[in-house]
Amino acid sequence: MTVIKKDVAVLKNYINGNWVESRSSQTMKVINPATNEELARVPISTKEDVDLAVKSAEEASKIWKKTPVPKRARILYKYHTLLSDNHEELAKLVVQENGKSYKEAYGEVQRGLECVEFACGAPTLMMGETLSGIAEEIDSEMFRYPLGVVGGITPFNFPMMVPLWMFPLAVACGNTFVLKPSERTPILANRLAELFTEAGFPHGVLNVVHGAHDVVNGLIEHKDISAISFVGSQPVAKYVYEKSASYGKRVQALSGAKNHHVVMPDADMDKAADHIISSAFGSAGQRCMACSAVVVVGDNEPFVHALKKKADNLCIGNGMEEEVLLTPVIRSEHRDRTLKYIEKGLEEGASLIRDGRKEMDELKEGNFLGATIFDYVTPEMTIAKEEMFAPVLSLLRAKDLDEGLEFIRKSRFGNGATLYTKDAKAVRQFREEADAGMLGINVGVPATMAFFPFSGWKDSFYGDMHVNGKDGVNFFTRKKMITSRFDF
Ligand code: NAD
Repeated sequence: MTVIKKDVAVLKNYINGNWVESRSSQTMKVINPATNEELARVPISTKEDVDLAVKSAEEASKIWKKTPVPKRARILYKYHTLLSDNHEELAKLVVQENGKSYKEAYGEVQRGLECVEFACGAPTLMMGETLSGIAEEIDSEMFRYPLGVVGGITPFNFPMMVPLWMFPLAVACGNTFVLKPSERTPILANRLAELFTEAGFPHGVLNVVHGAHDVVNGLIEHKDISAISFVGSQPVAKYVYEKSASYGKRVQALSGAKNHHVVMPDADMDKAADHIISSAFGSAGQRCMACSAVVVVGDNEPFVHALKKKADNLCIGNGMEEEVLLTPVIRSEHRDRTLKYIEKGLEEGASLIRDGRKEMDELKEGNFLGATIFDYVTPEMTIAKEEMFAPVLSLLRAKDLDEGLEFIRKSRFGNGATLYTKDAKAVRQFREEADAGMLGINVGVPATMAFFPFSGWKDSFYGDMHVNGKDGVNFFTRKKMITSRFDF
């Protein structure tokens, strides 16, 4: 069991089934965002640490890639059972290092379990294709093979789900893996590694190297890494994508977002407001599928009034307390950055109809910021264009759905978008024209499940094959074609 008390030593890397001290003496504090209590220290590992992990993964790969697919899947079933048996403990670890509410964290663990469930289907997922008779007496077959060693780099906001987007499917497909978790939420990754070994995976199939950009660069530059799976902010995603490509690696880089929710005049206003409140302020707005911009279609003052009232009644506090929805942001620096955005919104002429800064005085210990809502935001304003990743919501006013869709088109991001309406014609127009990869119809967080691709567009994704679903299988496998003549 991973120790998470204040007196813990520095976290260790997990290499070849052993807990190994980093070669680096540099560390960073891991804190509970609700209290700023120190939970552990994370090593800022070096490229030497990466070399050790990749060597271990490369060695393990020799046997793992030849391990029969059903056998690999059977070990994953065991892993699923262990994760499931420890569901509550894992959720508490998420709350402790990330700050989100227990309910959200419990749901996150569930999403992670679903990724393992999907990966357990590897024997079917990895099937190839055949065609008898591509010419006289000639047949063609396609087989799937693993890539080798894959590197995964993950963000702070889903310390359970995002690593599980990656390594269960990667190893089910016969790859071995080196994970670099977020240095702000590294504790859970060690617990995932412990349970991985307990499930019976051979040593070296999963390795964890803690740290920051040196580890990222070490993975990208390493000659024995075949592919990089990345999830994080837009500038880093673009950097990782370009650099990985320049090193000849297969790469998928999931990036930032600005998700618009369009509220039509015929929508169920109360339900729409509930969904938006939960989407915008749950996890303190730190979700890549969070609603950060609402397009209010028509002169809909009752909706704006209902939204503000619900924001006024939000329960804010430590994620371990029941009924809490609005939890702290990850670090005080992140809150300071958000406060600058709020100032910018005011400077650029948006109307602040709910000022969440007042709650900061009431909850001094943690990195709290109350629900903040700007009205009459225009697409040109900084707060409409940039991802704040915080509990700040912008309301844009549109005369009709066409104008709302135009706002979505103008955004450089294209992760998600939602429409609230009962009008079938509007639904179809939205489905056909909304310029984003994951759409919701009367759904606040239209995140896809593990058997579908997590399908961001534009600057929300760099690469070709998304995580999860068949895309994920394609990403973690390469194809071999056999053409055979039988009249020889
Ligand atoms: P981040 O970009 O700061 O960090 C992500 C990872 O990149 C971390 O492991 C970090 O150590 C590493 N990193 C950071 N700076 C680096 C640098 N200069 N060079 C090399 N590596 C670096 O992201 P974050 O703040 O941890 O996570 C939040 C971001 O992730 C948001 O932008 C959010 O939208 C995005 N996100 C996107 C998705 C998606 O599916 N599109 C899902 C979750 C999170």
